[in-house]
Amino acid sequence: MTAQYESTDVLIIGAGPTGLLLSSELGLRCKTRNIVLEKDTSIYKYPRAFTLGQHSVRLLQGLGLYSKIYSEIGYCSSLISMVGGTDSRFQKTPFLERELQTGHSALHANLHFKQPVMERILHDLIHKDEYSELRTGCNVTSISEDDDWVYVEYEHAGLKKRVKSRFLVGADGKIGYTRKKYLEPKGVIMESTLPWTMLAGSVNILVKRPTPESHPDFPLWAIGYTPDRVLDAFIPNSFIFKCNPNRPVVSCRLGRPSEDPMPWRFEIATRDNEDGMAVLDPNTVMHSTIYPYLRRPGSDFGVHGMVEYPHDCLELVTVNPYRYSARTCNRWFIGRSILAGDAAHVFPPFAGLGVECGLMDASGLAWRLAHLLNQPSSPSPQTIAAVLSSWERERRTHVVHALSLTLRNAIWIEQSHVKSTLTQWLVYIQRLVPAWKAGIENPNERPVEYAYEPGVSFVPIGLSGMKTRSQGASMVCPQIGCVVLGGGGADAGGEVRLLDDILFDRAKTGVLQLLVLLPSAPLLSQFISQIADLIPRIASLSDNTVLGSEAVLLLFPSPHTHSTTYPSLISLLPTNLKDTTLLRPASLAEYAASALLADRPYPAMYNEGRIHEEFPGARYVLVRLDRVVFAACGDEGALEGVLRGVGGVLGGA
Ligand SMILES: Cc1cc2nc3c(=O)[nH]c(=O)nc-3n(C[C@H](O)[C@H](O)[C@H](O)COP(=O)(O)OP(=O)(O)OC[C@H]3O[C@@H](n4cnc5c(N)ncnc54)[C@H](O)[C@@H]3O)c2cc1C
Repeated sequence: MTAQYESTDVLIIGAGPTGLLLSSELGLRCKTRNIVLEKDTSIYKYPRAFTLGQHSVRLLQGLGLYSKIYSEIGYCSSLISMVGGTDSRFQKTPFLERELQTGHSALHANLHFKQPVMERILHDLIHKDEYSELRTGCNVTSISEDDDWVYVEYEHAGLKKRVKSRFLVGADGKIGYTRKKYLEPKGVIMESTLPWTMLAGSVNILVKRPTPESHPDFPLWAIGYTPDRVLDAFIPNSFIFKCNPNRPVVSCRLGRPSEDPMPWRFEIATRDNEDGMAVLDPNTVMHSTIYPYLRRPGSDFGVHGMVEYPHDCLELVTVNPYRYSARTCNRWFIGRSILAGDAAHVFPPFAGLGVECGLMDASGLAWRLAHLLNQPSSPSPQTIAAVLSSWERERRTHVVHALSLTLRNAIWIEQSHVKSTLTQWLVYIQRLVPAWKAGIENPNERPVEYAYEPGVSFVPIGLSGMKTRSQGASMVCPQIGCVVLGGGGADAGGEVRLLDDILFDRAKTGVLQLLVLLPSAPLLSQFISQIADLIPRIASLSDNTVLGSEAVLLLFPSPHTHSTTYPSLISLLPTNLKDTTLLRPASLAEYAASALLADRPYPAMYNEGRIHEEFPGARYVLVRLDRVVFAACGDEGALEGVLRGVGGVLGGA
C-alpha cells in the first residue's frame, strides 16, 4: 500500500446502538484505541427501536449510565396487556396482563426507550473518552485487507480519507456497506433463519394534552377530569398488544408520565393479501387506523354521546413501513473484518431483542478484540480465527434462540380469527391453573445461556468441581443488590449497590473478575483461611489474566448474615485480605427501598440468593467483561486448574 493511511486498533463502521456500545466498551472498559465512522451527520431524531430488554439495560449500566437509563433514556411501565376483540378499543379487560419483572439481573426488563436519546448519551460518552473517536458525516466507500491490516477509504466533506486498523467491525446495519459490498462477494450471505416475514408500519406521534383553555367544550372537564387523566383515559400507560385479528396493533408510550407532548408509538401489522403500503399511507393512516382508538363511548365516563380525543392535539411525526424478517448471516467474520448487530442478523420487533442482540454482540466482541490486541506479539491468523469463531458461536446460539422467542410473541398479532380465538382460550385456561397462571403472567426472564462446545470462551460449567449444570452450558451471571462491608467502597455507609458496579469497577484491569461465594457460617472461618493462601497466588497462576487483588467476596444470603454479626465476620479476614471487597447480598426489602429503585416498579422477583442458587456448590465464579460466566469452581483445586488453562481457553484453544 503506497497511499498514506492513518492507523488505529479497531475501526467501527456505523454509529447505531451496536457501533456506539462497541466503541464505548473498547474505550472506557478495555482502553483500546478505536474510531467510529458514521455516514450521517446527525443522530436520526425519531425512535426506531422502542423497547430494551434487561441485558441491554445492564450493558448501559456497565457504562455508568444507570441514573440516565430510567430517566432520560427510558421509562419502565409495569405492565404488558394483551387486549382482545375486533373493535378499536384498548379499554377492555385484557385477556392477559404480564407484570414486568426484574428477572435475573435485578433490573426491570422492557424499558420503553428513546433511541435518539440513548444514542446522544453514548455519543457524549465517546466524545469524552481518550481512546475512542466518533466521526460523523463519513461515508465508507472502500474496504480491503491483508494479513496485518484492514484498509478503509471514506468520504468526508467531499474529501477522500484513509484509515487502516488491526480489526474492522461493520456495525452498519441491515443494508450497510461492509456486508453488501465487501463481504458478500467473499461468500457471506444473510440467510433466512426462520420462515417468516411481515410488512408493518411504525408510527411515531406526539400527543399534547387538551386543557380547559385550549378545548373549553371538551365534555370531560365537566366531570372533573384533568388533562393528565384525559391522556391516560385514551392512551394507556401500559404496553398494549391489541390482538385484533382484523388489524393487530401495538401501542406504547415512550415518555415518562409527565412528559408533554407525550411521544406515542403505534405499530400496525398488515396482511399478505392486502396492499400494505396503502394501509400505511401517511395521508390516511390516522383516519383509518389511529383515530378510531381515540374515540370512546360517553357511557364509559357517564356522559352522553361519543367522546373523542381532540385530533388537533396529535401530530403525526413519522410513518415508516418495514418488512420484518428473521435472518442471520452464514458467517460473521472473514479475516480481520467482522459483522455485528443488524449487519449480522435482523429481527422482528415483538420482543425488543434486535437492539439487545446487537449490544450483546458488541460486548462479547470488545474484550476479545482487546485481548487479541494486548498479546505481546501479533496473533496469528489461526488465533484470530479461533477467537472470533468462539464469539460467533456463542452469539449465533443466542441470536437463533432470541429469534424463535421473538416469533413466539408474534402469536399476539395473529391475523386468523380462529387462531386468535384459540390463543385467547388457551390463555384463559392456563390462568385457571395456579401453577400455569404464575408462569404466563409473570414470565421469569431466564438468563441468556450459551451451550458448551469446544472452542467457546468458557470452561464447561459443571465439570470444574461444581455439582450441577447440564451439558456444561454457561450463562450471563445473575446480578443482585449488595452492601459493601469491607475493603474498597466500605465507606458507602450501608448504601445498596448493584453487584456489577463493584465487580466490574472501572479501575480494574483483569480480563476476568473473580467472585468468591462464601459459605454459610459454620464453614466460614475454615474457608477464609484457605482463600487467604490462594488469593495472593491467583495473578501468577493465571499469567495476570485474573488478579486476586480485584476479587470480590460475597457472603452467603442467610438470616445469619443479616444479623448484627458483621463486625465479627469482617474480623475473620486475615491481614492480607483486609483490602479485599467483602459484600453481603441486599434483601428484597433493602433493595426495594434503595435509591436504585426510585421511579421503578416494585422488584417482586428479586432474589438475593440468586447467584448461590444458579451455581450450587460453587465457591469461585469467574466472570468475563460481557458478564458471561467463564468458570464456576467448587474448590481451590478446580480453580487452580482453570487459572492455569485460562490463556488457552481465551485464545480459542
Ligand atoms: C421500526 C423498527 C422497530 C424496531 N423496534 C425494536 C425494538 O422495539 N426493540 C429492539 O431491540 N429492536 C427494535 N428494532 C431493531 C433495531 O432498531 C435494530 O436492531 C438496531 O437499530 C440495530 O442497531 P445497529 O447498530 O446494529 O444498526 P443500525 O441502527 O442500523 O445502525 C447502522 C449505522 O450504520 C451507518 N452506516 C451505514 N452504512 C454506512 C457507511 N457506508 N459508512 C458509514 N456509516 C454507515 C448508518 O447510518 C447507521 O447509523 C426495530 C427496528 C425497526 C426498523
